[in-house]
Amino acid sequence: MTKTPSDRSKLGARTRLVHAGRDPNEQHGFVNTPIYRGSTVLYGTYDDLVNRRNRYTYGTKGTPTTEALELAWTEISGAAGSVLAPSGLAAVTLALTTCLKAGDHLLMTDSVYGPTRIFCDTVLQRFGVETTYYDPTVGADIEALVRSNTTAIFTEAPGSQSFEVQDVPAIANVAHRHGAAVLMDNTWATPLFFSPHDHGVDLAIEAGTKYLSGGSDLLLGMVSANGRWFKPLRRTFDAIAMCAGPEDVFLALRGLRTMELRLREHERNGLEMARWLATRSEVSRVLHPALENHPGHAIWQRDFKGSSGLFSVILEPFSTKAVAAMLDGLELFGMGYSWGGFESLVVPFDCSSIRTATCWNPEGPALRFHIGLEDVEDLKRDLEAGFSRLRSADSAPL
Ligand SMILES: *Cc1c(COP(=O)(O)O)cnc(C)c1O
Repeated sequence: MTKTPSDRSKLGARTRLVHAGRDPNEQHGFVNTPIYRGSTVLYGTYDDLVNRRNRYTYGTKGTPTTEALELAWTEISGAAGSVLAPSGLAAVTLALTTCLKAGDHLLMTDSVYGPTRIFCDTVLQRFGVETTYYDPTVGADIEALVRSNTTAIFTEAPGSQSFEVQDVPAIANVAHRHGAAVLMDNTWATPLFFSPHDHGVDLAIEAGTKYLSGGSDLLLGMVSANGRWFKPLRRTFDAIAMCAGPEDVFLALRGLRTMELRLREHERNGLEMARWLATRSEVSRVLHPALENHPGHAIWQRDFKGSSGLFSVILEPFSTKAVAAMLDGLELFGMGYSWGGFESLVVPFDCSSIRTATCWNPEGPALRFHIGLEDVEDLKRDLEAGFSRLRSADSAPL
């Protein structure tokens, strides 16, 4: 049997990921907590039942499997506690419903993950919450948008698809002076590359579907909260009972142990591909916060410990037909939504009809890349062939 390290705060990230949420002594010596499936939990006596003395009370409230991941995520995030949700989007809606009520005002970053926006504009609106979108680069100037009924400010850094870096501590400072909660979708960086609660975030959201899984084989979300917000979060979770599936949680625990290693490889491969793309004549701009010429680079360098494998490029003004020729012939890059798995992906995107607080009007078509764990030389060859299809479909850029 192994011992549990007593003072985890001194341990490095990789050591913590290996040990977090794991106690082989409770599993007959087996290294991993197995998949507990269950609704009913039996109580030994009348007294145990009426006073809910069991450690586990009912399937929706938690099992040893879900508790293992909650504990691990809390530790990795530097939070007071966390809850799991059946998808990243479910984690977003759980965090929002924890801090909002009818009559409240929500400040939402304009570059938020698209489906979060839909939730605000439909469900939250129906329940009497008004959303104002703000320029993601607003920083401390967000103060001008705060109203007496602003109860939450939602951040996401870098922004979905367009990769604006947000000054989260500056926004949090304003929010807390006005008594508003700070939420952050931290899926891109994960707590390994951005420590949300150390930067003033009250409720941090992660789509476990992405890098925690690492395999494009599950759907999961996590919300971690600081001491002020954990109880309201847990109460909302218990009331909504949006619980994650046991097999997905088990797979996520497996992904957790290697997450740092994988992220560092995604970072290395991603940076190499981003720098290479920046040298290509077909590419006008690369939107990657770790590149020195990115507008948010200084803030990224101040607040983040690394970059993951997701970034975008703006091409020179090629036609849609040429972009289709480029993408259709790719052999290694897949086309599809989500990201964070071992495989490289590309999707075209256009935010012009979505954004309301900022203007999205780039000089050419936009592509979002997720760089996987393949050999980068192979990825470059795949894209090189794609670029020749792009050029020959449009014999000359407009
Ligand atoms: C993918 C993603 C989500 C949603 O995760 P799902 O598990 O697919 O619902 C939320 N936020 C961000 C930033 C994402 O990339």
